Amino acid sequence: MAEPEVNLAKTYDGVIVGSGAAGGMAAHVLTSKGLQVLLLEAGKKLPIEQELRSMEWPYDNPQRGFLPPNSRSLSFNEYTIRNPPYGPGFEKSKKLYSYIGNSEYVKNIVVEERENPFTGTNYAWVRARCLGGKTNIWGRLALRLSDYDFKAKDRDGYGENWPISYSDIEPYYDQVDLYLGITGVKENLPYLPDSIFQRPTKLNCAEVTLKQGLQKMGRVLTQYRAGVTSDGLKHNKYRSRCYGRGACERKGGCDIHAAFDSPTGLIYPAMDTGNLTLRTNSTVREITVDTNTGKASGVLFTDSQTMKDYHVRAKVVIVAASTLESARLLLLSKSRLYPNGIGNSSGHVGHNFCEHVMGPGVAGRVKNLVGKPPTLDDGRPGGFYLTRFRNLAEKHPKFIRGYGFEGGSGSTMFPRGTDVHGFGASFKDEVRQNQGAYIGMGAFGEVLSRYENYVDLDPVVKDKWGVPALRFHYRFGDNEHRMAEDMKETAQEMFEAAGFEIMHVNNRVLTEGWSIHELGTARMGNDPKTSVLNQFAQSHDVKNLFVVDGSAFVNASCQNPTWTIMSLCWRSCDYLAEELKKGNL
Ligand SMILES: Cc1cc2nc3c(=O)[nH]c(=O)nc-3n(C[C@H](O)[C@H](O)[C@H](O)COP(=O)(O)OP(=O)(O)OC[C@H]3O[C@@H](n4cnc5c(N)ncnc54)[C@H](O)[C@@H]3O)c2cc1C
Ligand code: SF4
Repeated sequence: MAEPEVNLAKTYDGVIVGSGAAGGMAAHVLTSKGLQVLLLEAGKKLPIEQELRSMEWPYDNPQRGFLPPNSRSLSFNEYTIRNPPYGPGFEKSKKLYSYIGNSEYVKNIVVEERENPFTGTNYAWVRARCLGGKTNIWGRLALRLSDYDFKAKDRDGYGENWPISYSDIEPYYDQVDLYLGITGVKENLPYLPDSIFQRPTKLNCAEVTLKQGLQKMGRVLTQYRAGVTSDGLKHNKYRSRCYGRGACERKGGCDIHAAFDSPTGLIYPAMDTGNLTLRTNSTVREITVDTNTGKASGVLFTDSQTMKDYHVRAKVVIVAASTLESARLLLLSKSRLYPNGIGNSSGHVGHNFCEHVMGPGVAGRVKNLVGKPPTLDDGRPGGFYLTRFRNLAEKHPKFIRGYGFEGGSGSTMFPRGTDVHGFGASFKDEVRQNQGAYIGMGAFGEVLSRYENYVDLDPVVKDKWGVPALRFHYRFGDNEHRMAEDMKETAQEMFEAAGFEIMHVNNRVLTEGWSIHELGTARMGNDPKTSVLNQFAQSHDVKNLFVVDGSAFVNASCQNPTWTIMSLCWRSCDYLAEELKKGNL
């Protein structure tokens, strides 16, 4: 499909860089207010339903759903012992993907690692360069943050508070819930506020058993809060309601778009306003500056296929390329006025980088479910979420902040955790007998935001398009390791309390980056000396520059970030549109 020609003679009201959760939300909010917006996306527009094929059974696929023989994905050990970029030693594989790319259904969605190199410390960096970015394949757990996160410093003295409170963002969380749809059950927890939920999924037998066991310990297990519409959305013709088909468990997205993705949830409706020009295959490599005013004047981008460069002008530049790519773009945008990169007078761009630590967890078997008829547990957009319980009322002696668990049980397309050995008919029988009795869960914990954890530009290595690569200086610290130790112990303790037979306790901490929840590289704050953005994600230095993705986070919390990214983005874009109208930008 030919790309639409961008009108280079025109000054757009806004140019948005990136089309994922953040870029899509910015496009929705700004176009619905009548602004003329250009959305530039580095990747291509994929025939996404053909990629995802959510109804395809593994036996209908020549590779049974796995990668073709000339391609492969990186393993945990490779991330641990091999330093990026992944060059020599990987020649035999024509295509090399991140660990998440180990599937026929996502191989064109995630990037080829060697075309998109990075250097420095080990990091399992998952990127999706295509229209919609990572929202095409996200896990959909859609959680709110609370003042336990926004004002965490008040509780334990560490780091910085956010310049906003829960009450500032609550109306935007509500709007996101109503516009995009979310399933779940109200629990009235001060540290995990409820959303405006559509019809929830049901917990299955083993999950209810665990929930009941936890109640005695004062811990809360709730249905997976999924960014999925279960009742349908009358205002959106591109999305269907979830009708519980089999493949949700499989890596890959939802081809009827019951699960939120940015193109069908936000971008196509924005295009229907007539106010949005979308150009894919457009890699933005610099934010340009008007030297007379010091303001951003537009962006320089390269057509990712023809390699032709373009400059386009806009009154406001909205960066939404995802936390690490946004930092990269700010650092790339060096000029006489901004020698350290645009918006970086504080020196904090790329710093305070944080995410979630993962790995510890437990797998077990519910003995009285062995041999019971299979249940349809694939046909749910998620199992359960076990909410944070550390450092709420009491202080843990060994670490600050908290963690939660994601988990599930029951029969799935690929039987899990059966721990059965053998072959032939007896093996198959064993698998069938055991598979519905499996239950497992893994933890996600807050990684503290630290100035010393950062990314900068590699002075030598460049990507396929000649753009300097990112270099990582990022490691988990003592707090994360002590927290991981506790995750393992509590996981085991909770399964024991529920009466499950424990099959496996995992104490391995996964490589940095595994959570795919990178945050904080241009944090917001009130002090321009220690933060990059103000509370509306507006640059302290350049007033017509906004960075509306996870870069703005002050800390990572332990809750998954995407619903918060979109709610903050909505708030920022409301403010942006008002300021533009008043002539303040
Ligand atoms: C397998 C998986 C499971 C996940 N599960 C969850 C979950 O359960 N809950 C949760 O909250 N989050 C989850 N996430 C994370 C979630 O997907 C991200 O938080 C979210 O997509 C971030 O949105 P974004 O717009 O910042 O970035 P992205 O969605 O990555 O979009 C950024 C876009 O910008 C484009 N871009 C980058 N650089 C440039 C450039 N220079 N010029 C132009 N365009 C550019 C990219 O191509 C991309 O399309 C998961 C992610 C993955 C991959
Ligand atoms: S269970 Fe629902 S959200 Fe998941 S793939 Fe099926 S229809 Fe989509």
